[in-house]
Amino acid sequence: MKIAVLPGDGIGTEIVAEAVKVLNALDLQFEMETALVGGAAYEAYGHPLPPATLKLAKEADAVLFGAVGDWKYDMLERPLRPEQAILGLRKNLGLFANFRPAICYPELVASSSLKPELVAGLDILIIRELTGDIYFGQPRGRRVATDGHFPGTDEAFDTMRYSRPEIERIAHIAFQAARKRSKRVTSVDKANVLETFQFWRDVVTHVGLEYPDVALDHMYVDNAAMQLVRAPKTFDVLVTGNLFGDILSDEASMLTGSIGMLPSASLNASQQGLYEPSHGSAPDIAGKGIANPLATILSAAMMLRFSLTQETAAQRIESAVKSVLAQGLRTQDLASKGTTPVGTVAMGDAVVRALNSQR
Ligand code: NAD
Repeated sequence: MKIAVLPGDGIGTEIVAEAVKVLNALDLQFEMETALVGGAAYEAYGHPLPPATLKLAKEADAVLFGAVGDWKYDMLERPLRPEQAILGLRKNLGLFANFRPAICYPELVASSSLKPELVAGLDILIIRELTGDIYFGQPRGRRVATDGHFPGTDEAFDTMRYSRPEIERIAHIAFQAARKRSKRVTSVDKANVLETFQFWRDVVTHVGLEYPDVALDHMYVDNAAMQLVRAPKTFDVLVTGNLFGDILSDEASMLTGSIGMLPSASLNASQQGLYEPSHGSAPDIAGKGIANPLATILSAAMMLRFSLTQETAAQRIESAVKSVLAQGLRTQDLASKGTTPVGTVAMGDAVVRALNSQR
């Protein structure tokens, strides 16, 4: 089992170190190799995704990724910015399906920004299409407008597009995931306004005919954003495009207590995957040793499940995380007033102790 370890920038190095520690505490043999990515790679090699890092990622069964980015790189031209490394990895590895489970652990109900009764027992899965939509559609750019409300002035434009096979493959992923859960899929679109998403709705409906045992409903994205904070437990599997999924999954993160709790997996057609926390490099707390490593540790569990077919080990990690939360351990992002938070390393050590005590 070959894992490419790409810690990246900011808190990336701190949280990935804890996930690696947890993986090493399992009775499994991994071949782990670390490489620079993002701002760290730009500093060393002048590019956020150097060829050697990309080669390592391509040859691995899975990539364990921290986070990239820092405000100090905002003045770089776009192709050299740290965040381009993620887009490059997604493109080169063909990672089209992004899984973001949003689970509210009973111990963290009070940390959510919503009322406890709305989030207690929450367990939803957001599946975001990752390689299409307005993020990659061509043409895009800036020009002088020749029509519209202000012809002759500067304008910028992007192109929203989805092809039938792109929608079909993500829809299949969603229906198959729903079969392992409560057999319900909500497809989120904006079919009332956007041609791209009327097409999305048509194609998802068509794919749904192959899954008569799974209930499918459709919801406009504005309503979905509202329902996610009004009654999040009414969802089970939610499938949507790249742009809407980006926004809704961050919204869902707050239901769980902290963005520091939300793991993610990005998979290609051969189950090779990139596993990373849903949050960024958090430059505001980098180097302080206070970042929550649990989203990254839970991402490592997803990696064991999806790419390395080690379900038992994945469950062991998830149960160790539940156990440290039950013991009352909280990093600063989760700690309530008047309690003493633990640091990043102490949280990682606690998960390893919980793993060892399972034996
Ligand atoms: P962010 O997710 O890094 O931080 C948002 C807030 O959440 C901050 O207050 C931060 O301290 C807090 N936070 C995030 N992760 C935490 C953790 N594990 N424990 C405790 N607190 C945590 O988002 P941002 O501030 O908008 O972006 C910072 C940088 O990260 C930018 O350069 C951005 O482009 C980049 N970014 C990278 C990724 C990625 O690598 N996949 C994703 C999003 C943002």
